[in-house]
Amino acid sequence: MALRINDSEFYAIDAHSHLGRRKTPLGHGVASFLGDDLVRNLDEAGLDCAVAFPLGASYTDYSEANQIMADEMAKYPKRIIGFCRINPNFGPEATAKALDHCLGTLKLKGIKLHPEIEFFDPNEAELMEPIYQSARRYRVPIIFHTGMSSKASPGVIAELAARYHDVPVILGHMGVYVKLAVAVARQNENIFLETSVVGWMPLLLEAFRGVGTSKILFGSDHPYNPLPMEVEKISRHVARAAKLKPEDFKKVFADNLLSILHHDR
Ligand SMILES: [Zn+2]
Repeated sequence: MALRINDSEFYAIDAHSHLGRRKTPLGHGVASFLGDDLVRNLDEAGLDCAVAFPLGASYTDYSEANQIMADEMAKYPKRIIGFCRINPNFGPEATAKALDHCLGTLKLKGIKLHPEIEFFDPNEAELMEPIYQSARRYRVPIIFHTGMSSKASPGVIAELAARYHDVPVILGHMGVYVKLAVAVARQNENIFLETSVVGWMPLLLEAFRGVGTSKILFGSDHPYNPLPMEVEKISRHVARAAKLKPEDFKKVFADNLLSILHHDR
């Protein structure tokens, strides 16, 4: 499996996808999306591997969903890099315990946080410090949903991220409106930008020009978004407009993420 761009093949990882089951289907009808579904779609899109975390569900501590993630990663160890999802509202002690279980026992590889669905402020130190401390201890990244509200603003997230400069922080969707995400990524070595959802070419180009391809990770937000749509956005359209070279594709589609994860192919 490899991604073909301009007659060359690249090892390619999606840095943002979801797996799991929901009692109620998502807006576009998905109620169950597991490893078999993800791997089939990765094959179709020419991707080697995906970072996956649980589908969003308010009012849960995600313990069941995180176990499913570990099980699906065990079925497809070369195709799925499972992250846990944490709801900080259960309090600092519960959070630290859940993270020891997810990162220590289940060996999940990172942490996903969604300030809107789980409804918390990402600069509220009491709730957030245990998460940054666990990320530091287990040497894993944190990926935030960003954009669409002030709670999920890159500027608010950067406040604590700046104090944990050894913890990689990935801004999913680049804040959607991009500009603030570019500013904080330029100011903080540990802040990276992920490409899913952003759909306006001038903003995408602002990110690629503003922070460079060493700090950008390809992501799709699959199954919310179709994989080929998000792949082609970067591999065809941004590639042409930003004049990306083979070394840029390598970084954006795999190497930046692999180095954050301390991971080999
Ligand atoms: Zn997502």
